[in-house]
This record gives sequence, structure tokens and C-alpha cells, in this order.
Amino acid sequence: MSAQRAVGTAPGTARLLDGAGTAREIKGELAERVRALRAAGITCGLGTILVGQDPGSQAYVAGKHRDCAEVGVDSLRVDLPADATQERIERAVRDLNDDPACTGYIVQLPLPRGIDEQAVIDLIDPVKDADGLHPANLGNLVSRVAGPIDSPLPCTPRGVIELLGRHGIDLAGSRVCVVGRSVIVGRTLGLLLTRKQVNATVTLCHTGTRDVAAHTRAADVVVAAAGVPGMLTTGMVSPGSVVVDVGINRVTDQQTGRNRLVGDVDPRVAQVAGALTPVPGGIGPMTRAMLLVNLVEIAERSAGLAAR
Ligand code: NDP
Repeated sequence: MSAQRAVGTAPGTARLLDGAGTAREIKGELAERVRALRAAGITCGLGTILVGQDPGSQAYVAGKHRDCAEVGVDSLRVDLPADATQERIERAVRDLNDDPACTGYIVQLPLPRGIDEQAVIDLIDPVKDADGLHPANLGNLVSRVAGPIDSPLPCTPRGVIELLGRHGIDLAGSRVCVVGRSVIVGRTLGLLLTRKQVNATVTLCHTGTRDVAAHTRAADVVVAAAGVPGMLTTGMVSPGSVVVDVGINRVTDQQTGRNRLVGDVDPRVAQVAGALTPVPGGIGPMTRAMLLVNLVEIAERSAGLAAR
């Protein structure tokens, strides 16, 4: 079934693809796997390295540790001050590489200005790279078009594909247009979508693309990951298509003066699309769930248990 036909709702009634509910379901499954590992004498521990006081980053890290508690994974939290030096951050990375209680870990990005982010990522032990962003793991994603990949995958792209799959949206043969080409979302999503197991045909748009709307309108599935509030408007999607909103943008509400989170998709797209992911409650919780999936898979691999 194509992406469009699998959705099958009339324009004006976009089906909501509930990432929060799906993430809960996945966490339930993971809790079982964590229990099985524990029974085999293996405990899972997720490490986080957070540098500075950015409220968004603090909230993300806190959420990740709440998720850990829900599925029975231990938390190892390393918080460093905003003025931590490159050397201090790299020492924290080496410490987690060497810590047997740490199954896998993430360095919360972005790091403060002046820090060489790539140098920090390069130091992560690829086996413990819970975000799937180490060059060795990205290399596996590039080089393995078919067959299993036995290393962590980037969480947001994995979350997008998992959410669609669990809603019966078969991407094989479908035209997917991704707006955005960052390594953590757009570019790696393109690599995952074009693996033989998924078999989608992908167009990646960016700021150098001429007529982005022509590409998004031609797609069965549009993934908006530009970081621009409401950039995907009704005229940019074809009726009945599947729209995935990756964007998480903090904007100030004109009326209340309060900050709130909005996506990259104009809410009116719900009147045209066949299915839509909400913000919040869509790809955000799926990304966090995929981090735990990566972690549990690392533990299972280390125990010689079946992997993907
Ligand atoms: P980046 O800023 O790194 O990348 C944005 C990409 O979008 C760039 O490739 C840029 O093109 C492209 N772009 C920007 N504006 C346009 C436009 N008008 N038309 C076409 N392309 C455009 O952002 P991220 O990938 O890190 O994040 C994107 C969004 O997703 C953000 O809102 C972020 O908060 C959110 N996010 C959400 C996650 C989740 O869990 N739901 C996880 C990660 C990110 P160019 O390369 O030419 O500059």
C-alpha cells in the first residue's frame, strides 16, 4: 500500500499520528527487554553530558532521565558549567567511555560557543554512541544500503520511520520530500528512507532549493525539519498526503506573552493533509523513545542477544 492510500482519509480530517502514545507503547516493550537483561545479570545505564544552563537543553536532558526511570534504565548525569573548557568536556567523555556502568550516552547539543563540537563527538566510543552520531556509526548508515546495521542509528530519523510504520504507513515506493539537510535530521533521514528495508524515493530540500513547494507538493510524504515556524503551508502539500512535523520552535504568544512550542507546519495543513504529526506530542517523544531503543540494543549486543 502506498503512503497516500494507507492513510485514506479525506482532506479536512487529517489523522493525528500520535507520537506520545506510540512512544509510551515502545517504552512498555523496552521495559520488558530491560527486565530480561537484568535477569541475565546486565544492567543498562544511560549517561548524559550537559554543558551550561540552556533551559531547553536542561528540559530535554531531564526528560531523557525520566524516560530512563520509566523503563528501568539507570541514569548517569554529568552536568558541567557553561564555561567548561574543551579539555574538561573531553575528560567527561573519556570518563563515560571507561565507565562500565554506562551502557551508552549522549552529549547534549549544541555545546557552548567556542567548543569544537565535532572533536567532542569524535571522542565518543562508537559502541556507546546512543545518539548514533559518531562518524563511524554514520559511516555504517552510509555504506549499508541493505541488511542489518549493528550500530546505533540517529534517533530523530529513526523515530520518524518508526512512527509511520506503527501507523500502517508503508513507505516502499513512496515519494518522500524532506525539508532540511542537517546531519541529525534531514540528511540521515534520507539515508534511512532509501535503505532497501524502507525503499522510499527521497528528495532533500534546503535553502538552496529552487521552488521548495514544487517538491513538497509532488510528495506522498513531507517531512518538515527546517526549524522555521509554520514554513510548510497549505499550498505546499497535496491533498491526502502524510505530513511529519519535526520542528520544535519556541515562540512568544502575542496575546499571553508566554513562550510556547510550535512546529514547522502551519496548523491549517491539517485541513489538506491525510495524516499529520502534532507538535508537541509527535516526533519529540519518538526521538526520546529511539534513544532508549538504541541503548537497549547496545546492551543486548554486548550480551550477545539478538539485534536488529
Ligand atoms: P538545522 O538548523 O541544523 O537545519 C535546518 C535545515 O533546514 C537546513 O538544512 C536548512 O538549509 C533547512 N532550511 C531552513 N529553512 C529552510 C527553508 N525555508 N526552506 C528550505 N530549507 C530550509 O536544524 P535541525 O535539523 O537541527 O532542526 C530542525 C528543526 O527540527 C528545529 O526546529 C529543531 O528544533 C527540530 N528538531 C526536533 C527534534 C525532535 O526530536 N522532534 C530533534 C532535532 C531537531 P541549509 O542547510 O541550506 O541551511
